[in-house]
Amino acid sequence: MMNFTEPVSIRVDSLTSYNKFHTTVDVLRLDLIDPVVSGNKWFKLKEYLKEASHLRKTAILTFGGAYSNHIVATAAACTSYGFRSVGIIRGERPVELSNTLQDAQDYGMQLYFISREAYKRKEIPEEIFKSVPGNELYIVNEGGYGCKGMEGAKDILSFCDSGHYTHIMAAAGTGTMLAGLTAAARDQQQVIGVSVLKNNFSLKHQVEQLLPPQKYRQFAILHDYHFGGYAKYKPELVQFMNSWYTDTLIPSDFVYTAKLFYALNDLIHKNYFPNGTRLLLIHSGGLQGNRSLAKGTLIF
Ligand SMILES: *Cc1c(COP(=O)(O)O)cnc(C)c1O
Repeated sequence: MMNFTEPVSIRVDSLTSYNKFHTTVDVLRLDLIDPVVSGNKWFKLKEYLKEASHLRKTAILTFGGAYSNHIVATAAACTSYGFRSVGIIRGERPVELSNTLQDAQDYGMQLYFISREAYKRKEIPEEIFKSVPGNELYIVNEGGYGCKGMEGAKDILSFCDSGHYTHIMAAAGTGTMLAGLTAAARDQQQVIGVSVLKNNFSLKHQVEQLLPPQKYRQFAILHDYHFGGYAKYKPELVQFMNSWYTDTLIPSDFVYTAKLFYALNDLIHKNYFPNGTRLLLIHSGGLQGNRSLAKGTLIF
């Protein structure tokens, strides 16, 4: 069995500036795990890779877009743990690869570009089997969605004294991390997901698919903080990222964690939480994605 070294760099930051609202806000810094296999991706991948190793697979295949944290994290993790990696990328091959895809390729990932229609059907191009025998290939869903991803994400809460909080908040894409956090949460704790996709109302169902029914009442999803949709943003969000960094010294990424922190800040100012609320925010990483912003946009 493969040896997964536990990340040692994770810590909790307390944001005392929210104490005047009679709440405590702590941030679990999963972004400190590793600059590339950062944040929740390490947790979401580890159970898949363990299973792949157990089944004696030699290559991992997964899906993503040009800026996908999941793609580059998979590429890096595969290099560390001795797998070949194959990335099926949505859309035409661009003249110049994005930083994310260039990194993935540098980690040894074989990239295949397929049309948006083929991507929707999650088609695997035949030519892949010329270099990797089909029976050695292990497929991980887009974004690591699935039971193994959820199982891995359950471990996130063991990196702090999580029983002490009333609420846990995290950004949600596929909802895999949200499901893991909900599965691991204690009975009286409430888990709140901030959806980063626009009007993605199927997210609730996606999360429920990964949970036993008695857990359904323990999570909620907020749909008001997508800023136009996945990887979309507005000047207001960028301004917030900079002022949040000035106030807390915590960097955020514009796709996920900035929307989470913005939501938290907004909800606290709207007195959404009762007095005495103790919040744990999950910093799920993703900072590599900020490289697609113009230089000088961010102060960190
Ligand atoms: C992938 C990702 C998420 C979303 O995780 P899901 O399990 O797909 O909901 C959140 N934050 C960051 C930084 C990510 O890279």
